Amino acid sequence: MATNSIIRNLAAAPETEATMLALFIGHGNPMNAIEDTEFSRAWAEVALSLPKPKALLCVSAHWETAGTRVTAMEQPKTIHDFYGFPPALFEKRYPAPGSPDLARMVQGLVRTAAIELDSDWGLDHGEWSVLCRMFPDADVPVIQLSLDQRKIPASHYELGRELRGLRKKGVLILGSGNIAHNLREMAWEDSAYDWALEFDARIKGLILSGDHEAIIGYSKLGRSAHLAVPTPEHYLPLLYALGTQDDSDGVAFFADKVTLGSMSMRSVKIG
Ligand code: ZN
Repeated sequence: MATNSIIRNLAAAPETEATMLALFIGHGNPMNAIEDTEFSRAWAEVALSLPKPKALLCVSAHWETAGTRVTAMEQPKTIHDFYGFPPALFEKRYPAPGSPDLARMVQGLVRTAAIELDSDWGLDHGEWSVLCRMFPDADVPVIQLSLDQRKIPASHYELGRELRGLRKKGVLILGSGNIAHNLREMAWEDSAYDWALEFDARIKGLILSGDHEAIIGYSKLGRSAHLAVPTPEHYLPLLYALGTQDDSDGVAFFADKVTLGSMSMRSVKIG
């Protein structure tokens, strides 16, 4: 397979090519992988609007570790890290190749963390449920970076900043989580709590005004923040995507809706 020669060329690629965008995707319900929904359609449309990436570097809410790890296997497995869903979802596979060369490149690039190469993980549903809609041919190599549970939000953002040079080499950096995500308060219907709408709108405004400091310090944003982000893992992938933003980058939103009561599907396109 030509994957690794693509990545070797990528390492040597000049930084004069068009810079790849970065994305944050609100992934929500894994059923978006196999059901035609307003969200799965929006993800597919965004992918069609991009130049084809040379590779994908994904940060998912569903891979938390002690220390930062990056997947470095040739063929990452599809991880079905959920329960209570129909068999068709468990049968779904996303057979995109990995890229050990890109994983080593990331390891060499990052200075603020010692990144360990990982051969056990694969692709969790935070990634494959989205990627199977965006790149259904599974022909773009993909690696995943874990969320170090010991890091504070500012350190996650800094790690994102260290990765931004990869955008100039045609790598699509994709954070996958949800800006508001509270499973305890979730309602199985298309509805939205006031506090979820309030927090989602607040973060939208801060993204538009470029106030990354306030976004990193979300826990100081009051009651709506405490309800919308009861645990940080679905919020933190947003900080990786925003960390790659340069002054010249624009931002746009898609799939921007709160559903299931407490879940913001708002997705962000940077660049
Ligand atoms: Zn999730």
